[in-house]
Amino acid sequence: MNPFGILLVMPIPIDHLIHSRRKTVALIIQRDGSLTVRAPLRMSAVHIQEFVHNHEQWIHKKQAQAQAAPPPLKKHYLDGETFLYLGKEVPLTIVARQRFALTFSGYKFHLANSNLPKARQVFIRWYKAQALAVISERVAFHAEKNGFTWRKIRISSARTRWGSCSTNGTLSFTWRLVLAPPEVIDYVVVHELAHTQIKNHSPNFWHRLAEILPEFKRHVSWLKKNGRFLTLGDD
Ligand SMILES: [Zn+2]
Repeated sequence: MNPFGILLVMPIPIDHLIHSRRKTVALIIQRDGSLTVRAPLRMSAVHIQEFVHNHEQWIHKKQAQAQAAPPPLKKHYLDGETFLYLGKEVPLTIVARQRFALTFSGYKFHLANSNLPKARQVFIRWYKAQALAVISERVAFHAEKNGFTWRKIRISSARTRWGSCSTNGTLSFTWRLVLAPPEVIDYVVVHELAHTQIKNHSPNFWHRLAEILPEFKRHVSWLKKNGRFLTLGDD
């Protein structure tokens, strides 16, 4: 018997189905337009497909958007090319020689000519170091101001998971965040700090967030729209 017969339509293909201890179903459209479904442990295939079917319009709209949006441009490390840092496009200058592989003057990047073959790694190393410095400062600032405690800060290379908070109080942030404007970094920092007290995304959690950052919804939508550009374009 066809388990989807009740719907009388072609089921929408689910590319990735993850069952976990959760109470609700989440639909995630990946950057390539594929559909990931996160479902409660005991939810049946029929109910999952029914849920997906009920959100068909939304899924098609998001898939069309994902496929229509141009992919971020791959970097070539050329003189004059720009690189994001704290939400600003900063131009690159290739220099004959300098003590450090990559330096930042406040309005320009200088990359030593000899480092061109490994320019990508040099940039990532620089972004990671900046991410640790910038984010540590913001974590300390918001923790002190709002009475949060944390144990450790870790810098990851996650692509779309901007931050996370472990049960032992380790806060993780991707280096890509340091490409975003300062207010967006602050939002992710406060979001993870708030998780040290409220582990879930309950109304209580969002209420606490709004108390600290009344404008936080603007930053959520900024990340949704621009997050894919926080990259060097080849990862
Ligand atoms: Zn969260």
